[in-house]
Amino acid sequence: YSEMSPEELEAEKELLRKEYVAWQAKGLKLDMSRGKPSVEQLNLSMPLFDILDGKSLMKCMNGVETRNYGQLEGIVEAQHLMAEIMDCQPEQVIVCGNSSLNIMFDTVARGYMFGFDGCTPWCKLERVKWLCPVPGYDRHFAITQHFGFDMINIPMNEDGPDMDVVEGLVAADDTIKGIWCVPKYSNPQGIVYSDEVVRRMANLKPAAKDFRVFWDNAYAVHHLYKEKSKILNILHECEEADNPNLVFEFASTSKITFAGGGIAAIACNHNNREELKKTLTVQTIGFDKINMLRHARYFQDVESVSKHMERHAKILRPKFELVIKTMEEDLTGPGCGSWISPKGGYFITFEAPKGTATRIVDLAAEAGVKLTPAGAPFPYHMDPGDSIIRFAPSLPPIEELEEAAKIFTVCARIAYLEKLILAKAE
Ligand code: PMP
Repeated sequence: YSEMSPEELEAEKELLRKEYVAWQAKGLKLDMSRGKPSVEQLNLSMPLFDILDGKSLMKCMNGVETRNYGQLEGIVEAQHLMAEIMDCQPEQVIVCGNSSLNIMFDTVARGYMFGFDGCTPWCKLERVKWLCPVPGYDRHFAITQHFGFDMINIPMNEDGPDMDVVEGLVAADDTIKGIWCVPKYSNPQGIVYSDEVVRRMANLKPAAKDFRVFWDNAYAVHHLYKEKSKILNILHECEEADNPNLVFEFASTSKITFAGGGIAAIACNHNNREELKKTLTVQTIGFDKINMLRHARYFQDVESVSKHMERHAKILRPKFELVIKTMEEDLTGPGCGSWISPKGGYFITFEAPKGTATRIVDLAAEAGVKLTPAGAPFPYHMDPGDSIIRFAPSLPPIEELEEAAKIFTVCARIAYLEKLILAKAE
């Protein structure tokens, strides 16, 4: 498109406008906004309901009765299961309720109300700053915004956050208290952190003793292909780096079994864990051990988690590939935007020509396709380039996805043409 004359651009736009109006006339209502599993995926976990019945033995491995209070850290077999998913030691894990986001919120709240490691609680500080690799997960940014922290954008490279920037900032400023990380198949780009990035993260020398890395390993086992990306074990790397207190790791089975109906966990070293338990023991008498038992009995070993995730991948892969193929067919020729083909996770990120993301999302909405609002993957919803769009292909049936992807590429081309026409006129 960039080489076309103004007349050619207008003619092309006219053609696409006609296509757009035809889509609009269909009155579709398609939702690509959130990374929810499809009904077909949820059905994969229905056998969980048959694991326990009225005759089941309800005691767990170490004899603890799951129907009663107790075992604050979660049942042993659930600690093992979550440790396998998170690639850490069972004794580093506390299995909590149904949501890892909830544990992350509570962990930030603990730093805010009581402080970490004997440091001043963050609520008593004039300023608290937080590092946010961008684009990132909107709900992470919502937490740190809610607490009134200043969020600082960190550029993402192909192998994780730009560590030159991270190292420089944390060493120089003791008001920086944390960083959000999604180390594998990141939300939204699907980026996998390289060994070098993980090691540099573990070796950070923050000016603040209470600086913590929030390692949200939400997509640890969510591979789309046989080839499974691996990342280094952050807890181990922190120990090696003589930085054992640096990290809190999080994960859940929300996108393994039931979104919002699974089990979630936090993993950390002994010191952080003992500190955490001082608050946790006041917060609750214990989490839902019956759901933990259901999960642990269903997933007896790593193999069974792996097999289950392959079934998810079989459903998800064609959806991802369809969207990527549509982008390749419709957008490569016109030179409109770029994208990464993720090897796992839940999202595809489209980098639109600068200044067109909001327009694309609006155009799509008017044609019946709901996308995540432009700007959402950035702190304060502000995308400096107005170019990043997060596409969530998991929820809709493939036929609907096909229509949505088509509409999306029409909108992307129209917005790009409008931009070029305006630029040529100036
Ligand atoms: N972290 C990331 C990176 C996610 O993408 C999601 C779900 N979209 C969550 C956490 C939420 O997990 P949970 O359901 O365990 O709260």
